[in-house]
Amino acid sequence: MNDILRIAVQKSGRLSEDSFALIKECGIDFQNGIGQLKAQATNFPAEFLLLRDDDIPGYVADGVADIGIVGENVMAEKDKNVIIAHRLGFSKCRLSIAIPKNEEYRGAGGLEGKNIATSYPKILQKFLHEQGVSANIHEISGSVEIAPSIGLAEAICDLVSSGSTLFTNGLKEVETIFRSEAVLISQISLSEGKANLLNKLLFRIKSVQNARKNKYILLNAPKSKVEDIKRLIPGMRSPSIMELADKDWVSMHSVINENDFWNVIEALRGAGAEGILVIPIEKMIL
Ligand code: ATP
Ligand code: ZN
Repeated sequence: MNDILRIAVQKSGRLSEDSFALIKECGIDFQNGIGQLKAQATNFPAEFLLLRDDDIPGYVADGVADIGIVGENVMAEKDKNVIIAHRLGFSKCRLSIAIPKNEEYRGAGGLEGKNIATSYPKILQKFLHEQGVSANIHEISGSVEIAPSIGLAEAICDLVSSGSTLFTNGLKEVETIFRSEAVLISQISLSEGKANLLNKLLFRIKSVQNARKNKYILLNAPKSKVEDIKRLIPGMRSPSIMELADKDWVSMHSVINENDFWNVIEALRGAGAEGILVIPIEKMIL
């Protein structure tokens, strides 16, 4: 039987752009017609279901989709029978409690008996329970940040990334209760054929993620400094070293991690490297 992997993706919203970019970088093409709910990949046995993010965990748990891309916050809130197949590292945000900015916060205990508006009642309830606090949770589906100003609640629990929405609504963040990023979720038991397709996709996703985290570096080094420079750019196995026409110099090629990028560049210059070129990597197969 020819298996097809059904992948649920947010149709439009804060997850969509990065989800579609990742799929494209994995070399999977599909035509996304306006208003279309389904799209067939043209060069991979996959079909995309374009949905509201809130529906994705349920569709995956019920087997309508095999896998999906969703915020961990939505996965936790919906609490469906799905597993995280891979963390994707984008759409990072946090779920936080906020109160009017001129009010003093006296710890979670100060929320006792208060009205808290949120779209995440389950995650909030779990936090309050762990803190031994009992509060009234008002579930609302959007514009949570205006609840205090219209008198609906004394506090809110909502997603935050920069905090600017809270600020413009006269609120301050006082407690982070959940940290989230986009995750690839999967049904618990996939058929062998679908599991193979998922593994193939995961292999591609990891290659894309590794490539994004690393850069290819080329530089010229005096032969006398090669050992010092080798220690700074160990690379995937060890750097390549090529002779130059000038016998006192070599060209060294390696891969460096984005995290300590500038430190490495400075150390290389200090060690005598010249003509340093840094090039993006498209895919990195480990
Ligand atoms: P839908 O119409 O699909 O229901 P939505 O309005 O519920 O969309 P979005 O605002 O598009 O949802 O957010 C989708 C997900 O993106 C959130 O569940 C969260 O994981 C993540 N997210 C939310 N806010 C931010 C943010 N400010 N920065 C980065 N990621 C965010
Ligand atoms: Zn939603």
